[in-house]
Amino acid sequence: MNDRQMSNDECWQTLQRVYEFLDNELDEASDDAIRAHLAACEECLDSFDAELAVKTLVSRHCGGDVAPQHLRARVMMQITVARRQLG
Ligand SMILES: [Zn+2]
Repeated sequence: MNDRQMSNDECWQTLQRVYEFLDNELDEASDDAIRAHLAACEECLDSFDAELAVKTLVSRHCGGDVAPQHLRARVMMQITVARRQLG
């Protein structure tokens, strides 16, 4: 039960910061922590919605609903890298 609680907390923190991660807003240590967690935790990767992430970043940057191509491409690349590391 303690292990499960700890793991859930780590997942929660990861999902809280995943948009900053995708937006390259984190320092290197936090960036590595998120990347490592996503690579190790299939649950987080599954609960992470790529389309929602793109929309969230677009609204943060542009306040509109059209995703700039470079932004969408960067998000998809980050997710692809994380999924590859998961194996
Ligand atoms: Zn997780």
